[in-house]
Amino acid sequence: MQTELNRGKLFLIGAGPGDPELLTVKAARVLRECDVILYDRLVSKEILRLVRPDAQLIYVGKHEGEQNHTQSRIFDLIRTHALSGRTVGRLKGGDPLVFGRGAEEWALAMEDGIEVELIPGVSSAIAVPGLAGIPLTYRGVAQSFAVITAHCRQGRTEQWSKYAAIDTLVVLMGVANREFIAQSLIAAGRGTDEPVAFIERGTLPEERVIEGTLGAVAADQIDAQSPAVFVIGEVVRLRARLACSHLKNR
Ligand code: SAH
Repeated sequence: MQTELNRGKLFLIGAGPGDPELLTVKAARVLRECDVILYDRLVSKEILRLVRPDAQLIYVGKHEGEQNHTQSRIFDLIRTHALSGRTVGRLKGGDPLVFGRGAEEWALAMEDGIEVELIPGVSSAIAVPGLAGIPLTYRGVAQSFAVITAHCRQGRTEQWSKYAAIDTLVVLMGVANREFIAQSLIAAGRGTDEPVAFIERGTLPEERVIEGTLGAVAADQIDAQSPAVFVIGEVVRLRARLACSHLKNR
């Protein structure tokens, strides 16, 4: 039996959207305290350089089709390392609790009596559009936003009409199914001429922004590469007024 004393700890750490300077001060401090770091595909190399030289770095990124297999490996690694008294850092892109299964890792660790501490991160859902000059809310333009995902084609009609009622929609993991997402929203009442943007690799030097309309996405006329944040709503038009000042700051 393990005693409480030699049980390690799990830090669920948000790595932010990509730019290493968007890591929180707390995350940078905690990274130096970890013995083992389990990190995802979207975590930048500069952030990994912040760990202690003797820390063990384990890549646990997921590829299409192997999500479940990898997830059970992640649970096993957390359990094995934490129960042998190590401080485990689970470093996830953006905020750990936004579509990252972070809360599941938290719950399972608690079941094993492992202490868990959350270090929230800057989510790509908000920061990536913002830095591209697209605020999710703006007085008189958009009073609400929702962060949704649609990486499988399981959307029910009622679900799409619920989403269609929200001013700004931010779709994560939506590049592959963009055509289906746009068609579903149009069927639920959104306009074909509504502006949209895909921000690929936001906050990183290779960032690329593609603007278009919902109708063009529905007709498969917009090319985009993952990872990208897909934003739908009138706020996309504000980019014309806001994006330049941001570029000057780079
Ligand atoms: N927990 C993360 C989201 C995980 S889901 C967060 O809070 O940001 C992964 C999805 O996030 C990607 O498919 C993409 O839609 C988005 N994403 C993450 N980082 C991104 C980046 N730098 N640029 C564009 N999209 C990004």
